[in-house]
Amino acid sequence: MKTDQFPINGDQIASFNLLKSALDSNITGIIITDNRLPDNPIIYCNKAFEVLSGYHRVELIGRNCRFLQGRERDQKAREKIREAIVKGDAIITEIRNYKRTGELFWNELHISPIKDEAGNVTHFVGVQNDVTRRKNAEENLIFERKAVEQKVKARTDELKANEEYLDGIVQTIRQGLLVLDPDLNVISANDFFFRTFKVGNRDTVGKKLYELGNGQWNIAGLRILLEQLLPTNNPVLDFEVEHDFPHIGKKLMLLNAHRIELNGKYRDRILLAIEDITEYRAAEIRKDEFLSVSSHELKTPLTTIKGYYQTLYKLIGKDLSPKALNIFEKTGQQIERLQRINGDLLDMSRIETGNLEIHKENLDFDQLISDVVNESRNLFPSHQILVQGKLGKTILGDESQLVQVLHNLISNAIKYSPNEKKINIHVSEVSNFAKLSVTDYGLGIAMEDQKRIFDRFYRASDIQKHFPGMGVGLYISEQIILHHGGTLWVDSEPGKGATFSFTLPIATGKADHE
Ligand code: ADP
Repeated sequence: MKTDQFPINGDQIASFNLLKSALDSNITGIIITDNRLPDNPIIYCNKAFEVLSGYHRVELIGRNCRFLQGRERDQKAREKIREAIVKGDAIITEIRNYKRTGELFWNELHISPIKDEAGNVTHFVGVQNDVTRRKNAEENLIFERKAVEQKVKARTDELKANEEYLDGIVQTIRQGLLVLDPDLNVISANDFFFRTFKVGNRDTVGKKLYELGNGQWNIAGLRILLEQLLPTNNPVLDFEVEHDFPHIGKKLMLLNAHRIELNGKYRDRILLAIEDITEYRAAEIRKDEFLSVSSHELKTPLTTIKGYYQTLYKLIGKDLSPKALNIFEKTGQQIERLQRINGDLLDMSRIETGNLEIHKENLDFDQLISDVVNESRNLFPSHQILVQGKLGKTILGDESQLVQVLHNLISNAIKYSPNEKKINIHVSEVSNFAKLSVTDYGLGIAMEDQKRIFDRFYRASDIQKHFPGMGVGLYISEQIILHHGGTLWVDSEPGKGATFSFTLPIATGKADHE
């Protein structure tokens, strides 16, 4: 420092040196610049600043402090410093500086101007602290906070998207949907509900389910099921309601209700789905009527053809050449097949209309089985049918219908075991029931199909393409067995075969008619 600019005496020099060594021994970096010289150069730096910056004082003296900012000359803090210097104000700021090694450090800078008596700024004292650690911690904190904020935003966006997605589904579904609270008040409804019943939000939301419309859902049976739904967690399945609804008239609605649970939040809510099946049911009835009429219409010409065929056979059968006879016999088999198919359709429509007639009489069950098995052995010489066990008692039943059931089970066993030639029939007495099982070792039936093969027209999908059939044989068989007071069921493992069994009550002596 140029001491010649100050008029000083010996005491002053002593105290000046004292101050200088005080500055030098300070652990905070200090620099002093001379504002009266061009570009405000550094004229003093203490030891601590040398340590802090890594520069030797020789490398610092004479330079403007800005070089410490390296290439980062456009920092906001620099603008602040420049303004303060121009105005001669004191400031505290944080600026990114670079050490001699090129390493970044955050410099907490206190700049104080020193003014002469006329108020002109002659010097600036800069007190500098390396606050990199604190700054990094702060920056990490900001970074963490931003990361958390981003996560929260992402989660909120996701939830919103989920909500919109769910709402999209709820609004698109072609079923009326109502969300109910435990007291069966309507909390919300979808657009399809409003459109189906030609009602609005005001007529629906906030009201009790039973008060909607003209009391269409106020049905004792439905009430019990809905009230028990939450306590027992039993859903309401396929509950039909036929009603004369306001605005839309007489309709048939199918109701299904389940408890809703979304992450435990909506624990006590019921989702009620309402489907208008009026048209569907009408179409089913039309289809049944068509099947019934067509099978009745086919019955007479088929019987006539069979009659003519038999007469013709009697007249010319013995005169035919072996080739012509073969064709003749095959024609006869196909006529019988047609009659069987038509008979199945007739039986099915009789069952549907409740007109299946059953004429029960005392039957020798063992004899009945032996007759059908012998016939089957002739019809299907490809397979070996083995009968085990005997009942030795009579049962009460309709002979032709029980023959039909046995025939269905045996012909299915043969049809669906093309590569395994053994069929086992087992007869036994279980309690006061006769039990019969037909076992094959063929394709077997998948679990999901086992529940449905007794439905009308249902055929396992992998079988449909490869085997002929209409999917009504088991439906008719089950209905016949049910009408006899018995049960028909299946046990099967895919690839290993199937066992169809039925039970029939053993006769107590009296014949009857149903
Ligand atoms: P169809 O044999 O004309 O299809 P059925 O009502 O007799 O009609 O049988 C319904 C379906 O049950 C069949 O299509 C088949 O998928 C399955 N099924 C019946 N019997 C057997 C069996 N013994 N083995 C494997 N699948 C069977």
